[in-house]
Amino acid sequence: MIIKYNGENSQYKVKTKCLPFDAACNTNNGTKIRLITLNEIAENNGNITVTINLDVGESENVNEEVLKCLECPVCQQLMRPPIYQCTTGHSFCNICRTKLNECTTCRQPLSNTRNFSLEGFTAFVKYSCAYNQFGCNAIFAVNEISQHERSCEFKVYPCPISSCDYVAKYFAVKSHFKEMHNDCLVESTIYQGDFDPRYNCCTSETVKYLFEHCNIYKFTFKRSNEVCSFQVRILNDVDTNSKFFYVVSISDPERKQRKMTKSNLCLTRDVPITDYNVVSFLYSDLLSYRDFSNNDQIVYCCEIYEFKPVML
Ligand SMILES: [Zn+2]
Ligand SMILES: [Zn+2]
Ligand SMILES: [Zn+2]
Ligand SMILES: [Zn+2]
Repeated sequence: MIIKYNGENSQYKVKTKCLPFDAACNTNNGTKIRLITLNEIAENNGNITVTINLDVGESENVNEEVLKCLECPVCQQLMRPPIYQCTTGHSFCNICRTKLNECTTCRQPLSNTRNFSLEGFTAFVKYSCAYNQFGCNAIFAVNEISQHERSCEFKVYPCPISSCDYVAKYFAVKSHFKEMHNDCLVESTIYQGDFDPRYNCCTSETVKYLFEHCNIYKFTFKRSNEVCSFQVRILNDVDTNSKFFYVVSISDPERKQRKMTKSNLCLTRDVPITDYNVVSFLYSDLLSYRDFSNNDQIVYCCEIYEFKPVML
């Protein structure tokens, strides 16, 4: 701040730092001005006008410092709610959180505790569109940015194979996928496979990527010693009003009407996997479902549906 001492004919200006609010107020941290100087300014009538000017030139730097607190330590993007933290208190963006097994700063486990104070800050921040580097200059408040990004004309999709860096618009990613990773491409929202439930000596995993209606879904079929589980994750941003779910049916090729069916909601890209958000079948159930002769396989079919609630 600037303190101005104005006398009749002259003035004296002093620039001083504002004290933090918790600093003790004593003669040591105040700004001292010699009495003789004040007398010189005041001269004839003895009056001095004191003006205090709070210098707000630093507030932009303060904002940058605040923004730094909102930067995800992994991807360096500004975090948006919900913001979760590790057991020590380091925060992450929701997308990085699903990819991490432990905190990148302190190696402690991640927790389900949210950082509400930091989330509160996001209301005062203007977010640039995630497709900024692809040409979009849009800037929105935190409650509007996701809606814009879902329909942004510059929207791109990263190739879902984690070791591949390809990023492009939907149809370009689809043709890239066809060319480079064709063995795990499914151009439909239905995927069918088979396996022998008696052969369960080892754990295995089948992963397919389903491309349909401008969405990319990751289908995972996991086998472990006693159960087999199915899970579908939708990899791109979707309208929060739409719900996606998948139905897994196990059928007997000989008797089509005999079916075991289970369903669950598709995971969105920021929801971590738990035991509750997969569809699983016990081998014991499958084996009692019918008798298996030599080359018998169980046929499973996974179908994805979109459920749009009707707004009345
Ligand atoms: Zn991140
Ligand atoms: Zn940590
Ligand atoms: Zn945009
Ligand atoms: Zn790729």
